[in-house]
Amino acid sequence: MNSPLSPPDGRRQIRRHSGDRLDIARVRRSFPALEQLVHGKNLVYLDNAATTQKPRRVLEALTRYYETSNANVHRGVHDLGDRATARFERARARAGAFLNARQHREIVFVRGTTEAINLVAQTFGRCRVGPGDEVAVSCMEHHANIVPWQMLCNEKGASLRVIPITDAGELCVEAYEATLTERTKLVALAHVSNALGTVNRVKTLIEIAHRRDIPVLVDGAQAVAHLEVDVQDLDCDFYAFSGHKVYGPMGIGVLYGKIQHLEEMPPWQCGGDMVKTVSFEGTSFNEAPAKFEAGTPDVAGAVGLAVALDEIESIGRSAIAHHEACLLDHALGRLGAIRGIRLIGTPARRAGVISFVVEDQPLTAMDIGIRLNLEGVAVRTGHHCCQPLMERLGVPGTIRASVGVYTTLAEIDHLADALGAIVATARSRPSQRESLEIADLAAAGYPPATAVSVGAAASALLEELDALEDWPERYEYLIELGRKLPAMPPELMTAAHRVRGCQSTVFLAPRARPGCTDRVEFLAESDSEIVRGLLALLQRLFSGQRAVEILGFDLGGFLARTGLESHLTTGRRNGLAEMIRRLHAFAARTIAKADPRTKHQEHS
Ligand code: PMP
Repeated sequence: MNSPLSPPDGRRQIRRHSGDRLDIARVRRSFPALEQLVHGKNLVYLDNAATTQKPRRVLEALTRYYETSNANVHRGVHDLGDRATARFERARARAGAFLNARQHREIVFVRGTTEAINLVAQTFGRCRVGPGDEVAVSCMEHHANIVPWQMLCNEKGASLRVIPITDAGELCVEAYEATLTERTKLVALAHVSNALGTVNRVKTLIEIAHRRDIPVLVDGAQAVAHLEVDVQDLDCDFYAFSGHKVYGPMGIGVLYGKIQHLEEMPPWQCGGDMVKTVSFEGTSFNEAPAKFEAGTPDVAGAVGLAVALDEIESIGRSAIAHHEACLLDHALGRLGAIRGIRLIGTPARRAGVISFVVEDQPLTAMDIGIRLNLEGVAVRTGHHCCQPLMERLGVPGTIRASVGVYTTLAEIDHLADALGAIVATARSRPSQRESLEIADLAAAGYPPATAVSVGAAASALLEELDALEDWPERYEYLIELGRKLPAMPPELMTAAHRVRGCQSTVFLAPRARPGCTDRVEFLAESDSEIVRGLLALLQRLFSGQRAVEILGFDLGGFLARTGLESHLTTGRRNGLAEMIRRLHAFAARTIAKADPRTKHQEHS
């Protein structure tokens, strides 16, 4: 599978798949990660907007580079150094050709889109933006294309202007024009929205900005894997993308900048390779792009990225576009037909992504993501690093299915079937609340201790969990626990009892046990089934137990022992940590109150 060497301009001789049709079986064979089972089901990988899987050629190129050419670049007097430098620079030329840059000096290697945007904000932005100026971003940007500009504006006394979007999730050209003023010093826009899939008409938007002499940065993170990108045709000032979203390695990305900008911009990070001469009196800097590449770069990553770009072109960009358009059409039809599913974002032009929520269900997006995972389907749930967009659309988060070159129609069907079944089952189950009679509700009350000590409660739980075979069974066990969570009276669902950071709405109301003031008991509630399960687990361990025991219990060790910890995402882990912090703080206060001489430290 050796790839041919590139000619000096980086344009490789591409071995094309036949015609404009994509040979899906052949494509899939070249991605080893797709061949695995997840929870005993074929992996259906629909999280390509987060990162793509890597073709075998890329993996082999990484290994081959380290086996044959590994050396530091731009310094060696030896063969390996020359070879590494040649391969690195060839990768630069390859990336330049992929974007149709005028010259490969316009390509700066960075870690990814995030670093590219920060680089521009900290160099170009810092020079161009002053007090009273404005930077315009759209409402649908990823945090990576908001926060660097917000920080810059804060630093400079400038303001961040937000280009509004329609309910369909599209930028409206008139609103865009109205946002631009004579103080606008830069526009930063996504080519494709990572949360909605909207393809923005960036060429038109750039033309409008340029008529007012405003430079434009395009965040191409979600575009390059799906669309043909020609930076000369777009006439953008900067274009950023990440290798890992385009079937290349993680840790490498590209910033394209018009050479006149790169030449004018001051350096950013400083160190080796970006300098010409250094003395204690002063330093002279290298030319672009070396000026922006301080320190040892990710040479293997660049080499791998070049091979990934080859792979895309060998499959054929128009074949990929055609294939993905069919997938999205099919997915829109199938998902749209499931009762209770509402599509979020209905743009006229879409690439890669479909976002939706499930309405009127006792399940959050996160619960559905977890249940899909048990069916082998990998999707992303949450705000997708687009919190302002979620707020604009009035949803806490969405479920996002994102396709890639290797996605099949059968996989879309599998997603739709699994989703339909999950939603139908959830609908047919009465919620805990509904299944309790009013009298039960009133009687439910605070749960008493389930064992003589926290340790005994933990042993009993471990015994039950140990009897279950795998994660799906333990998941169902947790969900069952959650279904028996005693109801929390609405008057306890206050801001003071709200627990943040859980990707769902959570309330936790602890109190000292009446008549037994060294003991803590609590009620809790969540709109997520998995979080209700975790809350029920905490209740079984802790509610009604002595505060001092709650503080002393090694919950981390318990979760690791149950195997649950490895199935908690960072979001859920953070949420759980916050619930425990609340309980510990309350337990510490309870102890201090029961015996004011004991100054127990609150755990954080
Ligand atoms: N912008 C967009 C539109 C994205 O989708 C992402 C990644 N989700 C980023 C920026 C940040 O990319 P990275 O994490 O690779 O730097």
